[in-house]
Amino acid sequence: MPLPLEREEIQHLTEELEHIIAAHLAWFKQINRTLVCGSGLPAADLALDAHRSSPFGQWYYVGSRHPLADYPVFQELGHIQQAMHAAARMALLETGDGRRPEPGIHDSCIDLALRLNTKLRKLQLDIIGELLTTDTLTGCASRRGMLGKLREEQERAVRIQRPCSIALMDFDRFKKVNDELGHPAGDAVLRQGMKLTLGLLRRYDSIYRYGGEEFLICLPGTPLKDAETVIERIRKALFKQPIHLPSGQTLHVTASFGLAQMHPRQPVEDSINQADEALIRAKENGRNRIEVRTSD
Ligand code: GH3
Ligand code: MG
Ligand code: MG
Repeated sequence: MPLPLEREEIQHLTEELEHIIAAHLAWFKQINRTLVCGSGLPAADLALDAHRSSPFGQWYYVGSRHPLADYPVFQELGHIQQAMHAAARMALLETGDGRRPEPGIHDSCIDLALRLNTKLRKLQLDIIGELLTTDTLTGCASRRGMLGKLREEQERAVRIQRPCSIALMDFDRFKKVNDELGHPAGDAVLRQGMKLTLGLLRRYDSIYRYGGEEFLICLPGTPLKDAETVIERIRKALFKQPIHLPSGQTLHVTASFGLAQMHPRQPVEDSINQADEALIRAKENGRNRIEVRTSD
C-alpha cells in the first residue's frame, strides 16, 4: 500500500522514527538491566498506561489522526508495543527482594522489544523507499520501479480477470509556457495540474512521472471504455482549472492523452508504446484530446 505522504512529511517522519528507535533501545537496555541485575524498579514501567507515556506512546497516540494511521505496519507497531509493556510490567512485578521473573515472561518481554525495534526500522525503510520513488515537484511516483509495478498490475489483472488500462498524458505546448512565462511558471503548471489529476483518481490508481511533462496513469480493473471516461473527466477538469502562477497571473493549460489496455501476454513496454502512438495521434489531431488504441 503506498504511503500518502508529502516529501517534507516523509523527511520529518524519518527523523522522528530515528529518535523513537534510540529511545526504545535506551528503554530496552534499562529494563533488561533491571530484570537481570534487579536494580531499582522503574515506577513509570509499572503503571498500566506505560505504553502511552513512553516516547513511542507520545508519538503514536496523538490526539488527532496520525498520518500513518491506515498503514498496516503502523497498526502492528501499536499492538506489539502495548503487549511489550504488559509483559515488561508482569516481569517487573516478579522482580525485587532478590526474586527474578519467570524465564517465559522475561523471554516474551525481550522478544516483543526486539520485534518492536525491527518493525520500527521496517516502517522507517518503507518511508525512505517512498522518498526515493516520489517525484519532488509533482508528488507523483517517479519512474524508478515503474515497470516492475506495472508488471505486478498486469499479473493482477489476469488473476482478477479485470483489465488494466494505461494512459500517457502530455501537457500541450508546454515549451511555450516555459519560454514565455519562465521555468517557475512551467513548474507551477506541473504541480497544480498533477495535484488536480491525482485528486480525480481512485486510491489504487497510480501516476508516474514518465518524462519532463509527460505522465503515465495506471488504472487497474478498468477496461478501455471506462478508462476513457475517467481520462475525459481529467482532461475537462484540467482545461477548466486556472493555474496560479508565481507572478500572480493565472493561466489555462490543456493536455493530450493516449490510452491503451495492458495485454496479459504482451510486455508492458509494448502497451506503453501503444499508448504513446495514441498520444502522438492526439497531438496530430489537434491536442487537448484523447486517442485510444483500439485494435490489437
Ligand atoms: P506538445 O504540445 O507537442 O507536447 O509540445 P510541448 O511544447 O509540450 O513539447 P516539448 O516536448 O517540445 O516540450 C516539453 C518541455 O517541457 C521542454 C522542457 O524544457 C519542459 N520541461 C520538462 N520538465 C520540466 C520541468 O520539470 N519544469 C519545467 N518548467 N519545464 C519542464
Ligand atoms: Mg508536451
Ligand atoms: Mg512531451
